[in-house]
Amino acid sequence: MTYSTYKININGVVQGVGFRPFIYTLASKLGLKGKISNGASGVEIYINATTVQLKEFLDKINKHKPSLSQIDNIIHIKVDNQIFENFTIEKSDSGGEKTVKIPPDLYVCKECQSELFDPNNRRFNYPFITCTQCGVRYSIITNLPYDREFTSMSSFKMCKACKEEYNDPTNRRYHAQPIGCFDCGPKLSWFENDTWQKSDKEYSVFIDKAVDAIKNGKIVAIKGVGGYHLVCDATNSDAVKTLRDRKNRPSKPFAIMTNDINMAKNLAEISTNEELLLNSPQRPIVLLKALPDISKEISTFVAPNINTIGVFLPYTPLHLLLMNKLNRPLIATSANISDEPLCINLESLKKLKNVYDAILDHNREIVNGCDDSVAMVVKEKTVMLRRARGYAPLSIKLPSVLKENILAFGANQKNTIAIGFGNDVVLSPHIGDLGNIESVNYLKSNVETFTKLYDFKPDIVLYDFHPQYESTKFAKENYKNTQGVWHHHAHILSVVAEHKIELPVLGVAFDGTGYGEDGTLWGGEFLVCNKNGFDRVLSLEPFLLLGGEKAIKEPRRVALSILFDIYGKEAINLNNHVISAFEKNELENFYTMYEKKINSPKTSSMGRLFDAVASMLNVCQIITFEGESGMRLEELFDKNIKEYYEFDVINKKIQIDKIIKSILREKDKKIAVSKFFRTIVEIINFVQQDYKNMPLVLSGGVFQNRILLSLLIEKFPNIYFAQAIPPNDGGIALGQIASMMNLD
Ligand code: ZN
Ligand code: ZN
Ligand code: FE
Repeated sequence: MTYSTYKININGVVQGVGFRPFIYTLASKLGLKGKISNGASGVEIYINATTVQLKEFLDKINKHKPSLSQIDNIIHIKVDNQIFENFTIEKSDSGGEKTVKIPPDLYVCKECQSELFDPNNRRFNYPFITCTQCGVRYSIITNLPYDREFTSMSSFKMCKACKEEYNDPTNRRYHAQPIGCFDCGPKLSWFENDTWQKSDKEYSVFIDKAVDAIKNGKIVAIKGVGGYHLVCDATNSDAVKTLRDRKNRPSKPFAIMTNDINMAKNLAEISTNEELLLNSPQRPIVLLKALPDISKEISTFVAPNINTIGVFLPYTPLHLLLMNKLNRPLIATSANISDEPLCINLESLKKLKNVYDAILDHNREIVNGCDDSVAMVVKEKTVMLRRARGYAPLSIKLPSVLKENILAFGANQKNTIAIGFGNDVVLSPHIGDLGNIESVNYLKSNVETFTKLYDFKPDIVLYDFHPQYESTKFAKENYKNTQGVWHHHAHILSVVAEHKIELPVLGVAFDGTGYGEDGTLWGGEFLVCNKNGFDRVLSLEPFLLLGGEKAIKEPRRVALSILFDIYGKEAINLNNHVISAFEKNELENFYTMYEKKINSPKTSSMGRLFDAVASMLNVCQIITFEGESGMRLEELFDKNIKEYYEFDVINKKIQIDKIIKSILREKDKKIAVSKFFRTIVEIINFVQQDYKNMPLVLSGGVFQNRILLSLLIEKFPNIYFAQAIPPNDGGIALGQIASMMNLD
C-alpha cells in the first residue's frame, strides 16, 4: 500500500459548528494521520492516505457531517509527501481570502438543555450554556476566522474545567468559542429602582427577580442574543396596556413567546410545517392564525381585533430558565423606539427608560445587532418576512459568476445590504427603515461589519434609483463606481436568484411604492425580465397619492383620489364610507389638491389599491401600522365566494374603475373583499395567457398577504415566489446584485 499526502479544502458553513472535532474523530477512527485547521476560506486538511482510504474519508465527511454544517465544495489535491505522527488540530490561519460562511445564532441544543436542567451538572441553571452545536455566533463575532479571540467572549478568561473541555477534541465543547460556566463566563445583573445589583456567583437570583417582576405586571428589558426585548406577562391586560401606552404603540400586534409548542397550540392553529418552523434551531417568530377563543388565554390587547399573531419559542438558555418559572405566554417585543434599530447595549437602551421598569442584563457584548426573524407558512411553504437572527448572515449561491466585487445598498424600508463576489451573495440581517439618523448609522455600521468580516472591497456599488432613499444618497456620496438598479426589477431578480430561474420570466411586482423609470411611483407592475433588462408589459392605471407620504398612512386619501378619478368633483356628494371619513371642508381642500396635483405623486401601486379598497369598505381609514389594511382585509375573505369583478385593459394599463364601482355597490363586505382578492388573481391570470412559456415570478410586499399568495399557489402550481428571502424590500439588495450576473 502506498500512501500519499493529500490537501483537502472544504468551504461552506464549516466553522463554529463542530467540524474540526468531527474530522478529528473520523480520521482517528479510520486510522489516518494528518492535521486540520480553520482558515479564512473554510477548513484545510492534510492527510496521508491511499486512494481507497481517501475516497472513504471524503464519502464519510459528506455523509456524516455535523448537522449545522453546510458544505459548498470539497477540493482535494495531491501534495509533496509529509510525515505525521498522528492526527492533530492546528491553530487557525487568519490569512487568505475570507470566504468562509459565518454561522448564524442558533437555539439551545438538546444536550445543553438537559444539562441546563440537571441539578448534578456543573452548568445546572447556567444561563449561557452552549456547545459546538448551539448558541450565539454571528452576534458575537468581531472578525474571522471564527475563534474566541475574534468574539466578544475574548474578555472572559476560561477556567480550568472549561479549558479542558475546550481543548479536548472528543468533547462536545471542543473549540466551542462561547464556552463558559458560572466561574468564568458572562454574568447576569439586575437593575431596578435606579440601582444595579451584581454578583460574582449567585446571579441566578436575578432570574427570580425578573420572574417576580413579570408576574407582578412589570415590564422588564431583557438582553437576548441580538438585542434587548421588552417583556411582560401576555395574560395581564394591565401590563400589556401599560406597554402599549408607554411605547406609544396603540394596536400593532405584539409577538408572543410561549414555553413550548403545546402552549403555542393553546393560542393558535398550528400546521405540521408551522410546528417544524417554530421548533427549528433558528426559532423565528411565526405568524399564525389565532384560535377563536384566544382571549381566554391572553389579553385582548396583545393583538386587538386581529386574528394573526406572531409566536416564537425560547431560543436562549436564559429564556428557557425564565419561561420554566413563569409558565405562561409572554410578550417579547424588540426593544427600540419605533422604526429605530434594536437596542443592543445599555447606552441605546436608555432611550426606553420610561418604558421598562427593570433590566435583566448580562456582560457579554452584542457585537452585531440582530432582530428576531419573522416567517409564515402558506400552503405548507415557508416564506421569510424578516430575515435576521438564526438565518443571518445568509449566503446564496448565484447561478452564474460575478465578474466583480459588488456591494448593494438595497431599498429604504426594511433595508438590508448585500455583498457579492464570485457566485456568492451574502445578505445582511434586517437593518430596518432608514427614516431616522439612528437607522442610517446602523446601516453604516453594517457596511463596516460586512466589509471587515469578509475583507471586502467593492468594485461596483449598487443603489435603488429612488433619489430620496437614504441608502441611495449614502451610496452615491461615499463611493465612486456606483450604478442604479430599478426597484421592481430588483424585486423580481431577487426571486430569480433565490430559485436560480432561467430568464426570461414574467415578473409580477406588486408592492407599496418604488421609483419607476418614468419618475412616477410604481407598484402594480408586470415586467418581462430578460438578459438585457426588463419590459414593463402591463401595469395598474395610476392614481394620485393626495399628500404624498400622508396618503400611505391614510387609506381614505387614496380612496378619495380614486373616487375623484371616477366621478370628478361630484364624488364629494356621494354617500359612502370614504366620503364620510372626512369633514366637508376637508373634501373641498382635497379636491383642490387633486385638481392642481399639489404634493400628489402619481402611483400605480397595488399596495395602495388594497388600501383604497379597505377604506371603501370602512375596514381601515387611517392605519396605525404598516400592512394593517391588507391584514384586516384578509380576515374578511370567504373562500366559498369564487366570483371576481370585471376589469378592462386599455393601452397596457389595467383599469380599476369598474372594480371600484362594483365594490361600492356591494352590500356585504365579505363578498366585496373575497371578489377583490379573486380579481387580483384573475388579472395575473389574464396577463399570464400571453406569456405561458415563461416562468411566473411574484415579488413585492403585497405578496406577504397570505390569502393572495395562497390563491395564487392554488391557481399556478409552478409559480415562483420569495421564500428564503423576504418578498418585501428586504430582498432588494439581493436582486440588485443579481442584476449584475453575467448571463452569457
Ligand atoms: Zn449545545
Ligand atoms: Zn468555566
Ligand atoms: Fe418594494
